[in-house]
Amino acid sequence: MDQYRVFGNPIKQSRSPFIHQSFALATEQVLNYETQLAEINGFTKAVTDFIAQGGKGANVTAPFKEQAMAMCDELTEHAKFSGAVNTLTFKDGKIYGDTTDGVGLVNDLLAHDVCLENSQILLLGAGGASKGVVLPLLNQNPKSLTIANRTVSKAQAIVEQYANQPLLACSFEEANEQVFDIIINATSAGLTGNGLPIAESLITTNSVCYDMTYGKALTPFLQKAQALRAKKVIDGLGMLVGQAAESFYIWRGIRPNVNSVILKLKSSMSQE
Ligand code: NDP
Repeated sequence: MDQYRVFGNPIKQSRSPFIHQSFALATEQVLNYETQLAEINGFTKAVTDFIAQGGKGANVTAPFKEQAMAMCDELTEHAKFSGAVNTLTFKDGKIYGDTTDGVGLVNDLLAHDVCLENSQILLLGAGGASKGVVLPLLNQNPKSLTIANRTVSKAQAIVEQYANQPLLACSFEEANEQVFDIIINATSAGLTGNGLPIAESLITTNSVCYDMTYGKALTPFLQKAQALRAKKVIDGLGMLVGQAAESFYIWRGIRPNVNSVILKLKSSMSQE
């Protein structure tokens, strides 16, 4: 049976086996998908061992996405831009790398009828998750994409990678003085909400608020958005399933339906 893994540290919390086994069942693909904890200094060896055992592909999560990129023989343009890889394919003795988080995010926004074209988008955070979504968001032709980060230089570094694009970097304070159609939280302050310095005036009844983080309950950012009557309040569960669907497509050549799996996952999470 074809073997796939997701490597991370920690990894116990990963929903990827549930998602991929559900995709496999729905598309009648015979495969096995498991989590694998890699030691902090043992990621490359863990992947190499898996390849030697006949592994067909792997997902990679924190903190190994940059190391995964360094292992690849070939990278997609998108992976090169984002500086991180979450999908590895092992074929003909080579390692191919891609990143699917951005496609997962864009597809989820579109599935929620969020218009990206000509919109003013604010992306909070400039870590790995932000880097991975910039190009797919720009490909939707927004009016502007502004990256606000606590450490502004990190947002500036992302902007410098792209020429002739409506891409800007700023501090949270500067973002608070502007108006945006869509606000995407890509900070790791997602679950705790600690110190995310968002002014109430930033969120209006016309705002679409998206949090890449997800959980049983609304995240603090989305709670705030809901209290301020934001037009749409969306968590990152659809992005998670969407990025997995894109990985599945890369490996198996079939695009699984995400809606039924999102519902299954929501129901499973509500029973935990
Ligand atoms: P990183 O560690 O690479 O980046 C963290 C970012 O959060 C940095 O920009 C950091 O700012 C910022 N940050 C952290 N704490 C605070 C705070 N208190 N106030 C303001 N900013 C803060 O993480 P990732 O980019 O990999 O992941 C970010 C989030 O996205 C995670 O919660 C992750 O679970 C989620 N995610 C969800 C996915 C999905 O499929 N739904 C996919 C990928 C990620 P600074 O640079 O100043 O330190």
